[in-house]
Amino acid sequence: DTGVDADEQVLPGVENIIAVASGKGGVGKSTIAVNLAAGLSEMGARVGLFDADVYGPNVPRMVDADERPQATQDERLIPVEKFGMKLMSMDFLVGEDDPVIWRGPMVHKVLTQLWEDVEWGSLDYMVIDLPPGTGDTQLSMLQTVPVSGSVIVTTPQEVAVDDARKGLEMFGKHETPVLGIVENMSTFQCPDCGSEHHIFGEGGGQAFADESDMPFLGSIPIDPAVREGGDDGKPVVLDEDSETGEALREFAAETA
Ligand code: ADP
Repeated sequence: DTGVDADEQVLPGVENIIAVASGKGGVGKSTIAVNLAAGLSEMGARVGLFDADVYGPNVPRMVDADERPQATQDERLIPVEKFGMKLMSMDFLVGEDDPVIWRGPMVHKVLTQLWEDVEWGSLDYMVIDLPPGTGDTQLSMLQTVPVSGSVIVTTPQEVAVDDARKGLEMFGKHETPVLGIVENMSTFQCPDCGSEHHIFGEGGGQAFADESDMPFLGSIPIDPAVREGGDDGKPVVLDEDSETGEALREFAAETA
């Protein structure tokens, strides 16, 4: 027990706070967070997207947000709007090439400010992109924000699932409910021969969900369109013609 209670008053206008977590980096956590938020927004919900990955805030790029938040007269920050979502990121507050080298307490302070000093307004969902792993920042987040539920992102690979298991333990210790597991980079369909390849192994996410008695929220294939959407700032979940977009829409509906 950290001795700090999540205070219900932290974000009074927000109905549901969903934290997107992963045990290790590079499994597509930010990608899933952005597509989840955009998918919920597309479904008609009022959505905020909070990029709390202080050490690698990539979310603004993934939604093509290069403007900075404006301030109100009483010096509160107005989130940047993208695809109908309200976005806030550490990336807006530090210079583009400034590496963030703060220690835990500083991160905690800045994150807390980011909560308190932003005009989020009324939202149905706040999606938080947590940094990978189970360190100080994640704990800060769970301590200061009343998370309604978390989504754990993993690839099918054993080492990713092992690390995701630690993430699950962290949420367990903080009594934060886990909404479920989503498996990213599940399969790859060869564009030439059409056959499916299991590049990172097969079934790891589903097995993890079964073993930990958590819902399985979906599997997302490896698809160059996902990477391109991230780089170009157009989440693939919004692409009506994309099969992977459809898988992401189903995942968003499953999580809602
Ligand atoms: P994390 O937040 O876990 O570090 P990212 O979301 O930044 O991971 O994803 C890592 C890289 O993999 C990015 O370049 C992203 O575009 C790419 N990527 C993520 N998911 C997929 C996918 N399903 N298919 C293809 N590329 C993906």
